[in-house]
Parts: sequence; structure tokens; C-alpha cells
Amino acid sequence: MTRRILRILARGALAAACFSTAAGALAQATKPRVVIVATGGTIAGAGASATHSATYQAAKVPVDKLIAGVPELSQVAEVRGEQAFQIASESFTNEQLVTLAKRVSALSKDPQVDGVVITHGTDTLEETSFFLNLVLKTDKPVVLVGSMRPGTSMSADGMLNLYNAVVVAGSTDARGKGTLVVMNDQIHSGRDVTKRINIQTSAFSSQWGPLGMVVEGRTYWFRAPAKPHTRQTEFDIDQLGSLPPVYVVYGTGSMTPELYTAAAKAGAKAIVHAGTGNGSVPGYAVDTLKALRAQGLQVVRSSRVGDGFVLRNSEQPDDKYDWVVAHDLNPQKAKILAALALTRSNDSKELQRMFWQY
Ligand code: GLU
Repeated sequence: MTRRILRILARGALAAACFSTAAGALAQATKPRVVIVATGGTIAGAGASATHSATYQAAKVPVDKLIAGVPELSQVAEVRGEQAFQIASESFTNEQLVTLAKRVSALSKDPQVDGVVITHGTDTLEETSFFLNLVLKTDKPVVLVGSMRPGTSMSADGMLNLYNAVVVAGSTDARGKGTLVVMNDQIHSGRDVTKRINIQTSAFSSQWGPLGMVVEGRTYWFRAPAKPHTRQTEFDIDQLGSLPPVYVVYGTGSMTPELYTAAAKAGAKAIVHAGTGNGSVPGYAVDTLKALRAQGLQVVRSSRVGDGFVLRNSEQPDDKYDWVVAHDLNPQKAKILAALALTRSNDSKELQRMFWQY
């Protein structure tokens, strides 16, 4: 081959390389940039064998390994990971909730970030998602995801859940919808979603239905959140230091009112009563709750039933006792809103306004 021909070939190869680099950069630039903030849970869990789908250790696998386990993520987004915590979600404290929210808030303000995914244990995922839904000031998608089986199990659900969560976090049509929870192909509002089954991959549902679905890399939307969230609320994580203690007391037949006094002694600023039926309070416990209210504690009546909502002045005269009702929020979500509400006001009427509103 002559020198001239060699030179032409070299030039062609260079041009092709430049072209492919430019095309690659263009393709890269059009992909959304998603940060995965890992906190632990079953999605990072590991069991002794493939048949251990329900007995395993949560919070074992680091975020980089989780990402490496789903190479398809790079087809739908430019992904990077951060390890916030490595815990089972029942061990989440208020301090960790605030720390996580502040980090996600900072990420959401970063112009290099288009969306955030938070991997989380499923036990308290609904509390974290509701908290973030109320305190973040962003339109960017913030998506919580978990799994019911560890990655070491047969038919593990974490890989597809994570892929779906990244798809949603990178979608422009997921913007402005508040914090979202993606599990089992469904997209839920972080406000409404709750864990209802503790042994199946269809563990999460929302009383008022999911917002949409995510299937094979595409989102499908069916309704919009009705309650104010993120930018529309009066809570801002960047202005928040800590959360006041709020405890839930579970109502049953033949309970003891001493559970309420124990909560007060432990420092509770509000007690959420997870009442039977319509948030009912046993007749023999009413005086204890009235006395605690007189001492300044807020009393919030919610229901242990799971669906429906607690009506004011039904079962108990809330106006007369100056108590609050939790509307349709289950006890664990009522606990989150009560704590946030108390950072703004200790007026029971203001608390009630917030419970109707959010
Ligand atoms: N209890 C653990 C947690 O919430 C494992 C349950 C799960 O993630 O599904 O992190």
C-alpha cells in the first residue's frame, strides 16, 4: 500500500472515530442523569441460597454492586450511586430521615441531576416517601424503591423494580407529581402508598389507586395527586433542624391508658391514637387523653383499619376535647404529619387544618 493510501485510510478512521465519539456524546447528553441514593433494605439484601426468598439479611449489598447488577440501567439513564446508609428501614430514626431529606434536597437543586432514586427497606418506605413528599422543594422526580425478595433469591424483584424506578426518575412526565414510589410495575404517590402484605411482591397499594404504571421502559399515567406536595407545602427541609417526638399508641379491646402516659413520659409532643374502627377511643381511656391534652400534648385520632377516613366528632367529640383527626392518613403517616405540623404550630386548629390539607 502506498503512503498516500495509508494517509487517506488513517484520515477516514480518525473521522469515523470523531463521528462516533460525537454521536456517543450526543446520545449520552440526551439521557437523563439519575442519582441512586441507597439506604439498605431487602433490595440490598442477601440470603444463604436461591430458595431463601423470605429469610435473609437486609442491607448487605453496596450501591455500586446494585447498579452493576442491572447493566440495562445505562440504556435509560446516566446513573451514579451514593450510599447514604446501609440499614433495615425499621431502624430509621428521625435524625436519619432529616439527613436523607437534606441530601436529596441538595441533589434536586444540582443542575447536573435530573432525578433521584432512593433504595429503601419496604417496612418504613411509606413514612419516608410521605415525609419527602411534604418537605422537598423540587419538581424533579424523586422515586423510592425497594424489593420484597433479596437479589440472591429466585424471582428476585429488585432488579426490575430498580430499572423501573430509574425510568420514572428520568422521565420528564414524572415531574411535578410529588415523591413517587415504584414497586411491582406500579407508580404510587408517596403520600397514599402503604405496605399491606409482608410476604408478596405485590406488597404496596394505595387506597385511592396508583398514579400510573411503568412497563418495559415506558410510563403510563392515570391520575394526578389531589393533595399539595413538595413546592406547594409550608414545610421546607432546608429550614428544618429536627422533628419533635410523636408516638403511636395502638387501640385494641382491653388496652391500658398507661400506654398514653408512657408515651407522654417518653417526651411525646403528640400522641397518634391508632384507634379501632373510626378512630374510636375506649371509654375508660378518654379521661387520660383529656388530661394529657390539658397538659399541652396534641391528640390525633387515626384508625388501625387501613382504609377509609376518620370523621371529626364521630365516635368522640373532637371539638369539645380539642383533639385532631387524621383524615385518611394511617397512623404511621399521621405520625409524620403531626411531627412536621408541630414544627410550625402548636395550635390544634392549625394541626387540623394541615391534616385536612395534606
Ligand atoms: N425489614 C427490612 C427493611 O425494611 C427488610 C424488609 C424489606 O426491605 O422488604 O429494610
